[in-house]
Amino acid sequence: MSVYAALGLTPIINAKGPSTRVSGGLLSPAVTAAMAEAASLCVDMADLQAAASAVIARHTGAEAGIVTSGAAAGLLLGAAACLARLDPARMARLPDATGMPHEIIVVRSQRNAYDHAVRAAGARLVEVGLPDRYSGAGIRDAELWEIATAITPATAAILYVLTPRSQPSLAEVVELAHQHRLPVLVDAAAQLPPVANLRALPATGADLIAFSGGKAINGPQGSGILCGRRDLIMSAILQNLDLDLDWPSWNPPPTLIDKQRLPGLPTHGIGRSAKIGKETIVGLLTALELFAAESDASRAARHQQILDQLRQLAPELPFTLRPGPVPLLLLAAANARQALVELQNGHPAIHLDPGALDQGLLRINPTCLRPEDLPLLAARLQAIVIPS
Ligand SMILES: *Cc1c(COP(=O)(O)O)cnc(C)c1O
Repeated sequence: MSVYAALGLTPIINAKGPSTRVSGGLLSPAVTAAMAEAASLCVDMADLQAAASAVIARHTGAEAGIVTSGAAAGLLLGAAACLARLDPARMARLPDATGMPHEIIVVRSQRNAYDHAVRAAGARLVEVGLPDRYSGAGIRDAELWEIATAITPATAAILYVLTPRSQPSLAEVVELAHQHRLPVLVDAAAQLPPVANLRALPATGADLIAFSGGKAINGPQGSGILCGRRDLIMSAILQNLDLDLDWPSWNPPPTLIDKQRLPGLPTHGIGRSAKIGKETIVGLLTALELFAAESDASRAARHQQILDQLRQLAPELPFTLRPGPVPLLLLAAANARQALVELQNGHPAIHLDPGALDQGLLRINPTCLRPEDLPLLAARLQAIVIPS
């Protein structure tokens, strides 16, 4: 009996993609094998994260990096690093940020539910810009001068949520921040692929970048990467590790944690509740190697093949293809919302991407579809969807 059957669960058909609520993606056998092996032996967690840092640095060009329990955890740890820096007393105090710069500036249109993680560290978000897109008259988003005039002695960092449309550009924001000796914390959770972003984002000079490991990297569902400046990564890992030890016996790996720079040993920090296990770290690193070794064209071609098979199995349905790093099938439906719900309530449940429902479009994401899912998916779509 499968582990899920033993729990009374029927696995779903996931045409939504690697979203958290539908359990992320499907791990390759090499990743699950590495995780099983990692789980069978114990290591020092600081040493493991130092080894991870070397692998992440090799793939990103960043000075350092750690594996986190998701991009959101990376934002929490990154914000905590920007607030506390290398001061153990500040680390101990967070999320109480009294007496330290703790404002993090963010463009108003970039606010989103994930910035809860930044606020959880103790930061107060200061919004700038007026995205006046809905009035009919508006053409603007935030401009650089608006960020510049919001900088005060209370500013700790700038948060930048990266999408292909984010304004002002990351390069401009980094330049401005560095003129003021402020770090930029980038939420790049879903900005892979293109695989080139692994290197392109650190190359902008951005100080801390959070990637999700459970999305396109195809790592463990609860994994992510935080990479960037060595001192900030050191602060982040200090606020994440179990530090229930004493100063004389503490011998951290110097490539990740420079003990000389600390006046004493911090206690468990704000990020202790974003703990990550050894299996997850090893699984993420294995997935990262595989992700970095594959070209975007090869990855897209694999996904395209799944979509082509689905089209062949449902020839009556008027799919259109949306090419991209992750190609998608779009299906204009007269009953888009009802069809989505009906598919979800069926047995097994089928989850589609609801991202374009407001345009009457059902979207099929190939990333988490297995070839054996396709006949049933095709049959259910043909039975339920009324093309428009
Ligand atoms: C998915 C996502 C996150 C959270 O990533 P996790 O790895 O699930 O923690 C944060 N920010 C954005 C913009 C995302 O798309």
